[in-house]
Amino acid sequence: MMITMLNTLKITAQDLNKPEIAEKLKATLLSGGLVIFPTETVYGIGGHALDPLAAAAIYAAKGRPSDNPLIVHVACFDQIDALAYREQAYIDALAQAFWPGPMTLVLRKKASVPQGTTGGLSTVAIRIPSHPVAQAVLSLVDVPIAAPSANLSGKPSSTSFSHVENDFTGKVDVLIDGGDVPIGLESTVIDATGPIPVILRPGAITQEMIEAVLHEPILDHSESLVDGAPKSPGMKYKHYAPQARLEIVSGSDEDLLIFLRQAIAIDPKVGILGPHEVLDQLEGGTHLDLGSRAHLDDMAHQLFGALRALDDQQITHAYFIAIPDQGVGKAIMNRILKAANHQVITLEETSKGTL
Ligand code: AMP
Ligand code: MG
Repeated sequence: MMITMLNTLKITAQDLNKPEIAEKLKATLLSGGLVIFPTETVYGIGGHALDPLAAAAIYAAKGRPSDNPLIVHVACFDQIDALAYREQAYIDALAQAFWPGPMTLVLRKKASVPQGTTGGLSTVAIRIPSHPVAQAVLSLVDVPIAAPSANLSGKPSSTSFSHVENDFTGKVDVLIDGGDVPIGLESTVIDATGPIPVILRPGAITQEMIEAVLHEPILDHSESLVDGAPKSPGMKYKHYAPQARLEIVSGSDEDLLIFLRQAIAIDPKVGILGPHEVLDQLEGGTHLDLGSRAHLDDMAHQLFGALRALDDQQITHAYFIAIPDQGVGKAIMNRILKAANHQVITLEETSKGTL
């Protein structure tokens, strides 16, 4: 397919208040064009969700396989019934508790949603974002907008405007600069088609938060496979990967420091991503400080930017210091395990060996 370079219009969130810009944005989306906008999770690359050609354009711009379904964004709850069946009683309770916000529900789709948007599935993933710019775009066009994360397929999601500028200038019609996004990890995806909700992708809305609302246990299948295939199609692809060889290293602070000092002695440029409680005790190496492990939300916020910084600084080998797999830590570890292609070094076993 011929890829034509587009003349990308770059605007700020404030520009949306100008009638001529608002009109242009609306016309772009309603005619099948693509607009990148900030959401509270990550930047999204948006197109008309009910227009199969717009969905095809999103896949082409991202270089994304077309069996990987798109999340459909709507401005308010009333828009959902036109798109999907609300079959389970808990759906309304979850919506009440977490929408607008970083939660995506997978529901059985109605005929209005083209298979091109859902990667051929009979279900559709729906989210109501809370970010004021995302809300402004959705209210302006008054149609559902399919908006996967705005990154080239396989690369870290975009959490600041420079990321989308680098990846998509010339490939989409409009870029909206909304500064840094507040959360920095993609939404929690929940399969809401069966009697018990099932987490397909962990995110800022944690299992504990959902169980506290529903007063009953739910399931987390984010790491599980069905007959060798992931339940959520996006999970089978290489994700978030930097160019560097990335390994996760797990152990006590004492063992970590011994291991990382050896690693720095071998490669003084080696990348080290982790909490500053550990980094502060190390000299040398290329530090990518994710903040304090007492503030996992902050670490989540820094994660994708740090993975991109590895590429910018042409780091060829890096270690990520593992954090506890709890709360938002679960979502962080889910992303980093993919970025590292599941390469984990557990120090109890290896610290006395070689690197
Ligand atoms: P992204 O839009 O890049 O944040 O990724 C969307 C995620 O939602 C991917 O992991 C998809 O596999 C998942 N997803 C979207 N639609 C569905 C669906 N109908 N069923 C299961 N997972 C879905
Ligand atoms: Mg994505």
